[in-house]
Amino acid sequence: MAILRFQALDVVNRRERVEVKYPSGKVSDYFGNHVFGLEEMQKILSATDFKKVESIIKEGKKIDIQTADAVAAGVKLWAMNKGANYYTHWFQPLTGSTAEKHDSFFDSLKNIEIFRGSALVQQEPDASSFPSGGMRSTFEARGYSAWDPSSHMFLIENTLCIPTIFVSYTGETLDYKTPLLKTIDVLDKVATKVCHLFDSSINRVFSTLGWEQEYFVIDRALYNARPDLMMTGRTVFGHHPARGQQLDDHYFGTISPRVLDFMKEFEIECHILGIPVKTRHNEVAPSQFEVAPMFEEMNLAVDHNQLLRDIMEKVALKHNLKVLFHEKPFAGVNGSGKHNNWSLSTDTGTNLLQPTNSARENLMFLTFFINVIKAVHEHSDLLRASIASYQNDFRLGANEAPPAIISIFIGQTLSKILDELETKGDIHIEKGENMYMKLGIDKIPEIILDNTDRNRTSPFAFTGNKFEFRAVGADANVSNPMMILNLIVADQLHSFYQTIEEKGELLEKEKRIAIIQVLREYIKSSKNIRFEGDGYSEEWKQEAKKRCLSNIKDTPQSLDFYITPKSIALFSKNNILSQREIQARHEIMLENYIKKAQIEARVIADICLNHIIPTAIAYHNTIITNALGIQELGINNTDMKQFVADISQQINFIRQQVQNMIQERKKVDALENHRDKAIAYCEHIKNKYFSAIRTSVDTLELVIDDEKWPLVKYRELLFLK
Ligand code: ADP
Ligand code: MG
Repeated sequence: MAILRFQALDVVNRRERVEVKYPSGKVSDYFGNHVFGLEEMQKILSATDFKKVESIIKEGKKIDIQTADAVAAGVKLWAMNKGANYYTHWFQPLTGSTAEKHDSFFDSLKNIEIFRGSALVQQEPDASSFPSGGMRSTFEARGYSAWDPSSHMFLIENTLCIPTIFVSYTGETLDYKTPLLKTIDVLDKVATKVCHLFDSSINRVFSTLGWEQEYFVIDRALYNARPDLMMTGRTVFGHHPARGQQLDDHYFGTISPRVLDFMKEFEIECHILGIPVKTRHNEVAPSQFEVAPMFEEMNLAVDHNQLLRDIMEKVALKHNLKVLFHEKPFAGVNGSGKHNNWSLSTDTGTNLLQPTNSARENLMFLTFFINVIKAVHEHSDLLRASIASYQNDFRLGANEAPPAIISIFIGQTLSKILDELETKGDIHIEKGENMYMKLGIDKIPEIILDNTDRNRTSPFAFTGNKFEFRAVGADANVSNPMMILNLIVADQLHSFYQTIEEKGELLEKEKRIAIIQVLREYIKSSKNIRFEGDGYSEEWKQEAKKRCLSNIKDTPQSLDFYITPKSIALFSKNNILSQREIQARHEIMLENYIKKAQIEARVIADICLNHIIPTAIAYHNTIITNALGIQELGINNTDMKQFVADISQQINFIRQQVQNMIQERKKVDALENHRDKAIAYCEHIKNKYFSAIRTSVDTLELVIDDEKWPLVKYRELLFLK
């Protein structure tokens, strides 16, 4: 292995840049060129067919076979003109990645290219290879993928990709997309009703998402020389480099040329696919970066995040790099998250979470704003569960990421407004010397727009005109947390609307008073979830405990919140997931946790037994031989003896721990219940052995001759490019 390490280092030292050329013209000339959006459709379909498709998309109607045939013929023509000869249904199964199965347009019997509406609308991929949580017995392992006309079709590498949902033979959902689409719909209906309390011109409300994706980039040869990175996505061993992120010099530093070439190329690919990536910068840790697009409608934004990650992985290989989306690839160095900026927009172009100057709109803003806070307060545990994963557990609560406690930061100005509204039923704002407002209960004043305070330590922060859910992991499919967020807000808006409706016919002024009264109650009852201080601090953990906010660190237990009677009722009442579906999902998530822990335990044992211990023994023996030589010369070297004893102690400790872990795994693997097994893996394997073994291995790394050390070191992984 040590040989592999040095070969890899040699390769990296001889790397050349892979230069990237921009396509001719401006970005606006090629943006979305490989997307079959509405504009393209309009060009290719007849006016009647286009009208039909448009209303199907807008109103979520069922497509008839004639229209499907027309769309299929149109999109085939478009795709073939751009060189495509294959098509695939593209979907997001519960594995976390995307799935495709390619078919050719070419029909060899007729010797022509054919693409029928039926193939566009529905397909039957072999579903047995996707997780179902026991919902499909193998004899009926059928699953269907069905076209989702609200997402655009696109072209990748001569293949037409058709975004679809994925359901079982019996109609149960097997993917991330279906429940998300349902919550988008539920939220639209209820939020539109709430909007009508203020503005009757609004016909549609949709959630918007702007994600910020963090990731690491390392050289591909170094990645290939680390079995732990290859098998688990993270380094299970490795001593911190002498220089980590202490100097804080990476954030605004220049980006290395090879990484810049990689960024340029994936950005070009993104633009061709209509993904509006906009920002790129270094992150805090060495070799860590971030990419963020302009925000989009939820459905599209989710597709785009999945697509972007596929593209980045492919492009990285061309540049002999490897991109890491793991939440915590390196111990002692910042992990990677994916901030989810979330808001609500209307078809009239209003951002419902944007405070404005008009009194009427501000009451509408406060209504949505306070209802979101109330929703998060009511369902903070479910929100915690929505971001739970084996990998994210390593990041949450580590010193640079929000803890597993869900709280909301709203900033000084809005805190003051809510306090005043609560205590006085009235708002009174002072800012500087020349701004003073005191207005009656039926008038909501201007809200100061430069509400710029920022709190980087909050898992859920209001940032001026949107909420930013920061606890989401970098490797997550954001469908899941966004589905939960949409759902809890929709459910909350529903009870709000009902409360107002129950008051009967009201005059305009009475209605405003009624709304303010309900909001005051909400402010009072949801106060516990608001926290403006340092979310990373120890005091907050104590304070949160007093407030009875949960702080569940490990995934297996936090997943319980999916299947509480309260959550099951929430899912089924809103027709998002049936009890059977949510229980199946729960099983899948537990299974996933178990598999990841199992793989790590194996990798740790393998590296210790086959790489670390043999290396350490060989080095230990060399020292003994040398020490004996010294002794023969009549020199008694106690230092040397101590050194040998130290190494020998670490070797014995590692061996013993690994043996114990292997024994204990046998017991844990024998457990049948998935929840018990996941908890046992967490407590009796991961928490008990992983870091204890790591500490010893990392100690050996410090004392063993660098030339003999088998694993590529952190300084090499993080600084060589
Ligand atoms: P900053 O938070 O650094 O001031 P911006 O306000 O421009 O920067 O936005 C940060 C992120 O929030 C971007 O990814 C952007 O796409 C997203 N964002 C901005 N407005 C919205 C919105 N209304 N809905 C969802 N995401 C948004
Ligand atoms: Mg960020």
